[in-house]
Amino acid sequence: AKAERKNSLRFYDPQLGVETQHRLTLESDLRQALAEGQFELHYQPVIDLNSGQPESLEALIRWRHPSRGLIPPDEFIPLTEENGLILPIGEWVLRTALGDLAQLRRTLGLEGLTMAVNLSPRQLVEGDLSETISDALQQVGLPGDALQLELTERLFLEEYFATRQKLKQLEGMGIALVVDDFGTGYSALAYLRRFHVNTLKVDREFVRDISEDEDDALLTQAIISLAHDLKIQVVAEGVETAVQLNYLRQCGCEKGQGYYFARPMPFVETEAYLLQVIAD
Ligand code: C2E
Ligand code: CA
Ligand code: CA
Ligand code: CA
Repeated sequence: AKAERKNSLRFYDPQLGVETQHRLTLESDLRQALAEGQFELHYQPVIDLNSGQPESLEALIRWRHPSRGLIPPDEFIPLTEENGLILPIGEWVLRTALGDLAQLRRTLGLEGLTMAVNLSPRQLVEGDLSETISDALQQVGLPGDALQLELTERLFLEEYFATRQKLKQLEGMGIALVVDDFGTGYSALAYLRRFHVNTLKVDREFVRDISEDEDDALLTQAIISLAHDLKIQVVAEGVETAVQLNYLRQCGCEKGQGYYFARPMPFVETEAYLLQVIAD
């Protein structure tokens, strides 16, 4: 029956353009992926630059497609944001990531380890997010401060009225708000402070060019020092080299994430990685 369903969804209608056809196929494949458990989360540690220890994990979704292999999020998340599938997929991400964190805390004794989850704007604007989250936390026995939510700068600037109340509610649960991909809205930092944003992540495009582009290096430094004036912590993402790391340290950046430390890893590898780091 499964093969039949697949075939009926994949038949080619010459009335539709190739692009639309591709989209429809992808869309039905995504529904099936959710139903059949083809999504997985990989985890990338965020490192405390002072202690060198991982302090949180960022959950990054991948799609293990039966014929196309592992598909990165940039190739399917945008479509799910358009068609609303991000709502059930996003809930799956939250529940899975929190379940995995609870297990890691339990088995490794890492009580302070936290989990960062990426949120799409629709999850906050449309979904009953705080209810879902409090239910998910309760189910696995974790407190609110085990969770960080990563939201893009745009959401704070454009969806202020739609989301203000919900963000407040989440904050009341002890959940930390992280501004992802920070870099473009430099002047908006003070504004972000009004949301009690706890951390911002400097976009990896800035970090990438630190050693070649003096402007990017200076801008990164300025963002870090302004953030600190506002009592906002800074994570540098996309750290790939020791040169970048040293510069970021000099600027007083407190946390880093990137291939220099570790790549995103499946759960089992994450567990092994954490075990090794604790032992060192
Ligand atoms: P992001 O939140 O900015 O995540 C960081 C991306 O940088 C990840 O790509 C990560 O694998 C990659 N990265 C980490 N370290 C390095 C490095 O040193 N060098 C380079 N070049 N890249 C590095 P990934 O996993 O492909 O995710 C892409 C984007 O997809 C994420 O960007 C995020 O916006 C989105 N995404 C991932 N998982 C989810 C999810 O569960 N829900 C939602 N709504 N979006 C997600
Ligand atoms: Ca992120
Ligand atoms: Ca980012
Ligand atoms: Ca990004």
